[in-house]
Amino acid sequence: MTENPDTPRVVEPTVYELSSPGRTGVSFPDPDVPRAELPQSLLRDDLPLPELAEVDVIRHYTRLSTFNYGVDTGFYPLGSCTMKYNPKVNEDMARLPGFAFTHPLQPIETVQGNLALMYQLQEWLKEISGFAAVSLQPAAGAHGELTGVLIMRAYHRDRGDTKRVKMLIPDSAHGTNPASSGMVGLKVVQIPSDERGNVDLEALKAECDETVLGLMLTNPNTLGLFDEHLEEVIRIVHEAGGLVYGDGANLNALLGIARPGEMGFDVMHFNLHKTFSTPHGGGGPGSGPVGVTAELADFLPAPIVGIVEEGDEDLPPLYGFVTPKKTIGRVKAFHGHFGIAVRAYTYIAMHGAEGLREVAEASVINANYLRVRLHDTYHVPYDRICMHEFVAEGRFKDSDVRALDIAKRLMDYGFHPPTNYFPLIVHEALMIEPTETENKRTLDAFADAMLKIAEEARTNPEVLHEAPHTTPFGRMDEVRAARQLVLCCSWPES
Ligand SMILES: *Cc1c(COP(=O)(O)O)cnc(C)c1O
Repeated sequence: MTENPDTPRVVEPTVYELSSPGRTGVSFPDPDVPRAELPQSLLRDDLPLPELAEVDVIRHYTRLSTFNYGVDTGFYPLGSCTMKYNPKVNEDMARLPGFAFTHPLQPIETVQGNLALMYQLQEWLKEISGFAAVSLQPAAGAHGELTGVLIMRAYHRDRGDTKRVKMLIPDSAHGTNPASSGMVGLKVVQIPSDERGNVDLEALKAECDETVLGLMLTNPNTLGLFDEHLEEVIRIVHEAGGLVYGDGANLNALLGIARPGEMGFDVMHFNLHKTFSTPHGGGGPGSGPVGVTAELADFLPAPIVGIVEEGDEDLPPLYGFVTPKKTIGRVKAFHGHFGIAVRAYTYIAMHGAEGLREVAEASVINANYLRVRLHDTYHVPYDRICMHEFVAEGRFKDSDVRALDIAKRLMDYGFHPPTNYFPLIVHEALMIEPTETENKRTLDAFADAMLKIAEEARTNPEVLHEAPHTTPFGRMDEVRAARQLVLCCSWPES
C-alpha cells in the first residue's frame, strides 16, 4: 500500500526513443559456409528498427512491466470480472509438456490423457451446474452466449417454431447479452428491474408472448443480488414457450451451494477464467464452456469429447470426439482453449467439492463485509444481503466528485479501481467484487482508503479530480482515447 498517496510520480514513463546508431544486441558468429549474395529485389536499405544493446531492451521492457498492475501485485476488486488470485499450480500443470506440446491434429490414440482431462472437466462442470451436457468449445463468456443463443434458436426451429424472434434482457445485464442476441439477429427487449433489484415481474409478463425466444438472466445479477422471484421468472418465460439462458459469469457465488440447472435454466455459459481462476484481463485468453439441459444436448456445438469405446477392468476407456445429432456446428477451431481447461481442471481438483463451496461462502462473506463497512458513507441503492459483489454510488451530496474521481484516487492508495459506470441502472456506479482470495487485512485497508477518499471529497475535492498522482501515468483523456484510437505505433514517414 502506498504510504503517502500524495507523493508525486517519480518516473518519466515516456522515454521510448532509446535508439542510438550503431548499437546492437546481437552478433552472429562467422559463417562456416560461403556467403551467398541475396537477390537485390529482396533487399531494402530503409528498415528503421531501433538500434539497442541487449541490456537496453531488457531494461526497457522490464521497466514497462513494472507500470502494470495485476492481481499478483495488489487488490483488484473489479466487479463482475472475478479477479481472484490465480494459483501458480495451475500454471505448472498447463506447462507440463504432455499438455503444452500436443497438437490438435494428433491421432486421438496419442492424446488420451488430454481427452480424459477434457472429459473429466465436462463431467465436473455438469456436476457443479446441474446441466446434462457441456461443450468446452467457446472461447470466452461472450462467445458462450453466442453459442447458447444459437442453440436456443436451433431448438425452436427444430420444433418448427420460427416466429420466436425476441430476446428479453434485464436492464442490469452485461452488454455482451444484447450484443450476442443481436448477432443472432434477434430483437432485444429490455426488462426493467424492480425497486429491490429483481426482474420486474409485471414488465416481464407483458413481454411474454409467442414471439419470445427466451430470456437472458444473470443470477446473481450484476448488482450482486440473487433474484428473489427466480422460480417465478423462469416459470413465466417457460409458460410462454421461451427458454431461459443463464449468464454464468457470477457462478462464483453459487459454487457447491446451488445449481443453475436445477433452478430451471436451460443453458448457461461458464467463464472458466473468472470462476475457476485462470489469468485474464488484457484480452484473454478465456474459456466459455456451455452447459445445457437434456432437451438441448443434441444441439451442442461439435465435436465434444466422449467415450467412444467403453473400458473394462484391464483397459481404460477410449476417449474421442462425438458429434451431437442436431449440432449447431463448430464455433471454434479445434477444441477450445485447452490450456485454460487444464488450469480450470487443476483448480477444481485442488479444491474438491468442499473447497469449492468454501470459495463461494468466502466470496459472499467478503462482499458483505465491505458492503457493510461502506454503506453508511457510500449510498448502496439496493442495500440487502448481497452475493459475491455489490454496487455503490460514487457520488456525494453537494459534491462534484464522481465515480471516476474515486476510482482514480484509489490508484494512489495502491488499489485497482472497481468497475465503474456499470451496471447502468446505478448512478455513478462503483461495482465492488473482493473475491474470496483476499484476507480481512486487505479488505480493511481498502475500506479505510474508500472512507478516506469520501473525507477528501469533502475537504479537498481537487485532489480527487486530478488523481491519480503517484502512478507512472497521470489521468488519461478517456474521451480522446476512445475517439482517436491508436493501437500501434506508426513507422516514421520516409
Ligand atoms: C465477464 C462477463 C461476461 C462476458 O464474459 P467474457 O468472458 O468477458 O466474454 C458476460 N456477462 C457478465 C455478467 C460478465 O461479468
